[in-house]
Amino acid sequence: MLNNISTKQLFNSIENIKGIGPKTLKLFEKLCGLKIIDLLLTIPRDFKKRKYLETISDDYLKKEIAIKIEVNKHLPQFNPKMPYKIICKNHNNEIEIIFFRGYIKYLKKILPVGKEKIICGILTKLKNKYQIIHPESISDIEELPFLHGSLSVYSLTRGLTMSLYRKTISQALKLLVDVPDWINKEVIKQNNWKPWKETIELIHNPKNLEINKIKNIQDRLAFDEALSHYIKLLVTKKKLTKNICHKIEVNNDIKEYIKSKINFELTDSQKKVIKEIEEDINKNNPMLRLLQGDVGSGKTIVALITLANIIKTNMQGALMVPTEILGLQHYNYFKNLFKDLNIKIVLITSKIKKKEKELIFKNIENGDAKIIIGTHAVFQKNVVFKNLSYVIIDEQHRFGVHQKFQLSAKGCNPHILVMTATPIPRTLALTMYGNMNVSKITELPSNRKKINTVAVESKNISKIIKSLENIVNNQLNAFWICPLIDESEKLDLTAATKRFEKLKKYFSNKVGIIHGKMDIEEKKNVINKFKKKEINILVSTTIIEVGIDIPDATVIIIEESNRFGLAQLHQLRGRVGRSDKESSCILLFKEKNLNEFSRKRINTIKNNADGFNIAEEDLKLRGFGEILGTRQSGYQLFKIIDPLKDTLLMENAFDYAKNLFENRKKLKKEEKDKINLFLKIYNQSSTLKYISIA
Ligand code: ADP
Ligand code: MG
Repeated sequence: MLNNISTKQLFNSIENIKGIGPKTLKLFEKLCGLKIIDLLLTIPRDFKKRKYLETISDDYLKKEIAIKIEVNKHLPQFNPKMPYKIICKNHNNEIEIIFFRGYIKYLKKILPVGKEKIICGILTKLKNKYQIIHPESISDIEELPFLHGSLSVYSLTRGLTMSLYRKTISQALKLLVDVPDWINKEVIKQNNWKPWKETIELIHNPKNLEINKIKNIQDRLAFDEALSHYIKLLVTKKKLTKNICHKIEVNNDIKEYIKSKINFELTDSQKKVIKEIEEDINKNNPMLRLLQGDVGSGKTIVALITLANIIKTNMQGALMVPTEILGLQHYNYFKNLFKDLNIKIVLITSKIKKKEKELIFKNIENGDAKIIIGTHAVFQKNVVFKNLSYVIIDEQHRFGVHQKFQLSAKGCNPHILVMTATPIPRTLALTMYGNMNVSKITELPSNRKKINTVAVESKNISKIIKSLENIVNNQLNAFWICPLIDESEKLDLTAATKRFEKLKKYFSNKVGIIHGKMDIEEKKNVINKFKKKEINILVSTTIIEVGIDIPDATVIIIEESNRFGLAQLHQLRGRVGRSDKESSCILLFKEKNLNEFSRKRINTIKNNADGFNIAEEDLKLRGFGEILGTRQSGYQLFKIIDPLKDTLLMENAFDYAKNLFENRKKLKKEEKDKINLFLKIYNQSSTLKYISIA
């Protein structure tokens, strides 16, 4: 029934559509993806109605129109501040096309005298003359069919015009095929949804522009999108937890040993999550657990204690970190704690020297290395583990889902713990993890004091600099953060270097600098000096944003704080207030650089200490895409769903997915085929294999 040939065309490249060459293909790829189906699933962001007028008349003033004109002449422009006018004719009427800013050469090219064109825009009239000011589009006559009626408005990118986009969509729609529906008939009926093919046709060319009608069409597609996403999550989870793995027994001796080495009592919350994790890893099926705890709540020690259970066994454990310097910190911390125990702990980063690397890889392969700490470099093919049984991923939001699974593929189904300081609201948690188990550290160590957060205009910077004398005199630490400029490390560096030079004038050798371009030895050196207070003030780019733990750091100054996101500011502030000392966070800003959003962010940080509240605000300000880590991948997770608004729909889709998944063994072949096609359409086909063998 589902004959492959009939659906195959949906998965062809957009390039197969007439008029799309490699250049345009790139633009489409940027907007929606490479395949025809990707294009079809990229839905309009708005709709409008536009009337084609054979002859202009006053009845259409202030309305959106399309009109055929012939260009009569371009009026010379004597003063560039004056509008540029092009006189045209529509039957017996004269109409002026007006540009307040215009690139005249270009306008002469697209509106050559004597030529007929279709102009779209809002019709106005001044002193008895018809006008269209800044027309929305100027097109050739042949494009008329795409320029009037109910029009879908798509998000565009530079170089791609709306009319080309519409033409391409209308070609793609011709390739749509009827597919048997994968959603239960009852559900379709209850929601008053249409079959899939019709839904896609209607979303691009709706017959009725009533908001409710459009929303209903969108909902069907949003449901599909959510459903496919959740099926994938459930399948992946199943894959990860399917096979027998190594049971890790709790080793109380080592736990007592560690406790004797640390100078604090674990909080009740820490004890609780350790217990939850240890119960999980002591089983034959792999753990998949999320550990959530605000910045500074003490996740590292939880990782360390639970990981330590493997050191007297023949197993290996890995701790993944997003940055080299966090790797270095964890490495030193672990090494120091275990120094009497004769355990091999290794650190892998992309910057270690070849010879050293070879030795480390060998140690990992022959099992000598017990605990492996590393950055993305651990994902390399030539890192082969002897017996990887437990993987912890620190600051998980910095890694793609893809990478997490790559690493787990290296072990024989290791237990996986992902740790994050980013508190996750319910819909987001559901979206990211499906029903992943969650442990939460709900309290900070009791010795913590509130961090005093203030926003200060940069013109008062000299006072701030002066106040740092305290830090130097009292042998404490302060961070000075220079902002990310255009995501460019090079520019970051210039800003940081400049600040460093300036501060040196006041504090001479008590100031240091650290940034991403330094090699690991240099970084190590600076951090050591900072810890030992040979340096008291450390100028840094955002590379210290996550995880860095310097208990005596009591001040953090964030320059141009308006440039940072909320999550970033919260993380950065979390670099201080990690002991019983009073600490403060100073947000510098220039009044002229503030806009509505940056003002809100700065206020939110000033008024909230709790990461959960901040995350909720962040979600409101930024939306989901960003938070889910699209920053790294460049792709949006969802095309249709708006997780902030479609909460109920998503929860329904989750229940539907769960039900389907739990009953997958009972599905008939025909049913399975439908779902396979569905997953393929929604680009989740990596799950296919599993569904079909289930
Ligand atoms: P995060 O959760 O942000 O990763 P860390 O694990 O780096 O936090 O811990 C922050 C600091 O708090 C570290 O210096 C750590 O030694 C300390 N710490 C952890 N647990 C406790 C505790 N129960 N009591 C006091 N200090 C603690
Ligand atoms: Mg941490």
